[in-house]
Amino acid sequence: MPSSYVADFDKRLAGIVSQMQIEIAQALKSGELMSLSASARLTYIAEFYPELDRILRESGYFDLVNKLNKDSAGLVKNLRDIYAINKVPLAFVKSDVKVLTALNQMTFTAFEHIGSQAMQSVHTALMQGVLSGVSDKQVANIIQSEMTDRFQRYATTYANTARQEFAQRVAFLSAEQTRQDGDVLYWEYVGAEDDKNRDACVIGLAQRYFTDAEMQEFEATYADERAYNCRHIFVEVTKEMYDEGAKGENDLTDDELERRQEIIENI
Ligand SMILES: [Zn+2]
Repeated sequence: MPSSYVADFDKRLAGIVSQMQIEIAQALKSGELMSLSASARLTYIAEFYPELDRILRESGYFDLVNKLNKDSAGLVKNLRDIYAINKVPLAFVKSDVKVLTALNQMTFTAFEHIGSQAMQSVHTALMQGVLSGVSDKQVANIIQSEMTDRFQRYATTYANTARQEFAQRVAFLSAEQTRQDGDVLYWEYVGAEDDKNRDACVIGLAQRYFTDAEMQEFEATYADERAYNCRHIFVEVTKEMYDEGAKGENDLTDDELERRQEIIENI
């Protein structure tokens, strides 16, 4: 299950994608594609890319992405709430804002890339379709599968990944301050607990409590496996929580645990 935020992103994107499909089909028909000769059709499709690009720009996709980026303030608040329950201060200095702005810029660029990649895939598939002489219906199927099976899926996966990375980055920036102060850090691996978890995350959740060195080793070992769609992050815990955790106990009340899990799963 994606977080409710990403589920909402996915739903809005589905609306945008289906509208785009209609517009692409209309733009193709306005060229009366099927009544053209084979070579005229090919020329038409070859010059169709700017039209696809325009449809993407006007689709509302970038507004949706900007909205996701704007909500990064909400993510920081979520993390602050988690840290309040953990009784760990979330250190956040001015220069961190710059890092996070840069991260949002990277996210935007990646979404831009996913969008233009999708338009290129549609374009290539249309070219191949026209070359092999397909029907209107098949053209519609080509557009449908490129847009829904790929564009929609890739963009939602990335939205999930970007939010998880952003939240983790905030936690790591905060930890950087603690390290500079010479204090020792302890971590807990938290997130969704269901049968969709990958091996790496099952291992992480089973250990749950990590020293700073163990956390860094885990991050390095499982970077590839956790690169996309991971729904888990490391959050800082107090030494007391770490010690209790190592004994299989927990410092937090059931109420606190429940509230915290809810926030975490909605990142
Ligand atoms: Zn994970």
